Amino acid sequence: SLTIGIAGLPNVGKSTLFNALTRATVLAENYPFATIEPNIGIVPLPDPRLDVLTDMFHSAKTVPATVSFVDIAGIVRGASEGEGLGNQFLANIREADAICMVTRAFSDPNVVHVDGRVDPLDDIETVTTELILADIQTLEKQLPRLQKEVTGKKISKDVVTTAEAALAILEEGKTLSAHGGDLDPDILREFQLMTTKAFIYVFNTDDDGLADADMQAKLRASVAPAEAIFLDAKFESELVELEADEAAEMLESTGQEESGLDQLARVGFDTLGLQTFLTAGEKESRAWTIHKGDTAPKAAGVIHTDFERGFIKAEIVSYEDLVELGSLAEARAHGKMRMEGKDYVMEDGDVVEFRSGI
Ligand code: GDP
Repeated sequence: SLTIGIAGLPNVGKSTLFNALTRATVLAENYPFATIEPNIGIVPLPDPRLDVLTDMFHSAKTVPATVSFVDIAGIVRGASEGEGLGNQFLANIREADAICMVTRAFSDPNVVHVDGRVDPLDDIETVTTELILADIQTLEKQLPRLQKEVTGKKISKDVVTTAEAALAILEEGKTLSAHGGDLDPDILREFQLMTTKAFIYVFNTDDDGLADADMQAKLRASVAPAEAIFLDAKFESELVELEADEAAEMLESTGQEESGLDQLARVGFDTLGLQTFLTAGEKESRAWTIHKGDTAPKAAGVIHTDFERGFIKAEIVSYEDLVELGSLAEARAHGKMRMEGKDYVMEDGDVVEFRSGI
């Protein structure tokens, strides 16, 4: 499954945030397929629709979709030159499908900043520069071999021209996720670069920061179109220790609508290119994970591999229609339950029953 790597400079609150994520980790009993490892946090994707379905169908269980986070050792200046933890950091980050970059935006004089000052945009630049330098090295290492293979007609010339174009972008100090849009994504993927990954920026801030709309707007604009999340990692780690109703009360008292961890799970899931569809019944109400753009047979295959092969039709009602009409029977009676075939592209909020030939 896809994972988001938590990365950033030392002492910015990564461990604090990651510990909160592991405390929020879903119970393994519902997820027998998930091997829980110490450096992986698997958190539920918040979805209030599931509670509504659970009530409507009197479901015995509620099973949300999940988002996986992996802890990545702190990056340091010079990582691309293989200093200290640099090599391990780069190896770990290569395996993540998206990067959540944590930066420090809290001003606690008791916590030392590696560069002696709190400046999140400067931190982002430091880390991004290391990733760009590492990608330049990776491409420079591969290019001579690729050129030989083109000469020997083993690979298409497009591979080398793509590598060279990517290198030119990186040498201007730009990332490929922001500026490599014209390059062939399938070829780019083969190079195993880091700046092609999607980024999410977490600004670890304090009460003042959470209330400072101007500061947030400025930082948000600086990282756009990537998503920015403002949270207080220390507060989040306290929040996950509370019972749900206590946590909700505590959150409300700070004027926040959604916890930072919930925001991170939601934005992370979306950034990975994932979406859900829903099933509901007496046994369980459940959200299932698919890729955006997946068709109905693919979705059926997530429930059971045989369902994809044996797919005949999917009976689908939108969550909104189902809630408005109150039951599947009423939805059917009002013609809101559609029969969809194998070319149907799934939409977020589809409530589904599959018909299969097995
Ligand atoms: P890491 O090196 O990035 O993993 O950072 P840590 O999570 O170990 O945090 C470094 C120090 O900053 C620790 O002493 C934390 O208690 C403190 N810290 C982390 N998050 C916050 C925060 O939101 N506010 C404040 N005041 N301190 C924090």
